[in-house]
Amino acid sequence: MKLKRINSTNTILWRYFTFFAFGVIAVIALVCYGILGNAVLSQAKRRVGAVGNDMLETVNDADIPLSVLEQKITDYALLDGVDVFIFDADGGLKMPNITITEGKLVSVHDDLVAKLGVWQNGRTVEFNSRSGGRTTFNFAACVTLNDGEQCKLLVRFPVSHIAESVRQMEIYVLLVALCAFVIAFLISYSLANKLSGPIREISGTAQKLAEGNYEVQFNSVQYSEIAKLSDTLNYMKDEIKKSDDFQKELLANVTHDLKTPLTMIKAYASMIKEISGDDPVKREKHLDVIIDEADRLTGLVNDILSTSKITAGLEQLNKKVFNLTELLYGVINKFSYLQETQGYSIMVDVDAELYTLADEEQIYQVIYNLVSNAVNYTGEDKTVYVSLKYDAERQRIKFAVRDTGKGIAEEELAHIWDRYYRSKDSHLRPVKGTGLGLNIVKIILLKHGFTFGVNTKEGAGSTFYIDFPSA
Ligand code: ADP
Repeated sequence: MKLKRINSTNTILWRYFTFFAFGVIAVIALVCYGILGNAVLSQAKRRVGAVGNDMLETVNDADIPLSVLEQKITDYALLDGVDVFIFDADGGLKMPNITITEGKLVSVHDDLVAKLGVWQNGRTVEFNSRSGGRTTFNFAACVTLNDGEQCKLLVRFPVSHIAESVRQMEIYVLLVALCAFVIAFLISYSLANKLSGPIREISGTAQKLAEGNYEVQFNSVQYSEIAKLSDTLNYMKDEIKKSDDFQKELLANVTHDLKTPLTMIKAYASMIKEISGDDPVKREKHLDVIIDEADRLTGLVNDILSTSKITAGLEQLNKKVFNLTELLYGVINKFSYLQETQGYSIMVDVDAELYTLADEEQIYQVIYNLVSNAVNYTGEDKTVYVSLKYDAERQRIKFAVRDTGKGIAEEELAHIWDRYYRSKDSHLRPVKGTGLGLNIVKIILLKHGFTFGVNTKEGAGSTFYIDFPSA
């Protein structure tokens, strides 16, 4: 496969800017080039025609004496650089009254005769002629002077000297275009550099991030798009870091949680093999422990799976009407081992037979997470208060779980529902947490559209509540 060569933004920007500047300057130069020469030449041509017509009018005016005609010819020659000649019938120069080197006007007169043909009063012709490398615009006419003589009028303007000025101007245009191009080239270089600078900066920072340095910060804020990209990348970096920390912590927790039952299973299996194999009572007891630990293992694996699914947003809502009271008792029973072994008490104030419409499995998870948090964070009295009450007026069911712990500080309150957020103090907890519990609660309750929240006071414990619809 042929690999496509990838250029840097800088090169691409520079190249396009330069092409663009070159294109614009080339078009302007070409237009100047074409228009300038043509405009000057057609202006000269028009002038020759105008002088020719003016001379015709003067000649045709019977009241104007020949001396005035002569004066006009001199004026045109001196002031406008336009030559006017009147030839008599024999080809001799009648006006102006000047001496020209013998033979110099012969070819001019021959040209004139060739263009005008047979003399006919009023016939006019305009033509270009070239002789000795000089181009001339000509206006010729057959005229009758007021002394009755039949003559030929010739008005001519050599364009070679204005062509020289035009060429000079064209060179200036070319030089200016070249300078403009060099300047555009330099400006486009610095502009391309300026535009691509922040992108290069971001790419360098991203490279460090890719190498695992989460301390980097995307600081480019030169343009709104780049500032937004920096913000997004900073957000992404924080999320990756959280996820990375979470994975490490989860792995540590999971390893610990899985190791304990596995060690127990191995220990009891060895005991059956070596000691209690022949004692049916002991063997039965040890086998029960193995079965219990295996069940715990299954439960753990399921919890980890559902946590992953919920946090990844893969779980769909499977709503149905179910008995919320029963579900709550099911959750409380899960904590009976703590009540029996570690002296915790869960005080219950629950109305019987309350039904709601929701995803039963997910609500179980929500209530489990809230009760386990209350157990984890309750005070020295190791007491947690759970209530489930029907509000007949609003037709709602209010669930609340209260602990007697330290409460939640004002600055922590905004973060407790965030993914991976865990309080800084290393509180000794009977149930291991991952910092996902309240985030899962939030995701599930938001999906259901249920109202929920927490009332807390530092030093006086916290009460988490949910408002369920009654079904
Ligand atoms: P975990 O309990 O695993 O740390 P959670 O998402 O359940 O994660 O809770 C996030 C944080 O919210 C906890 O680390 C703790 O700081 C705070 N928190 C949750 N429940 C309570 C509670 N009942 N009392 C005090 N703080 C709590």
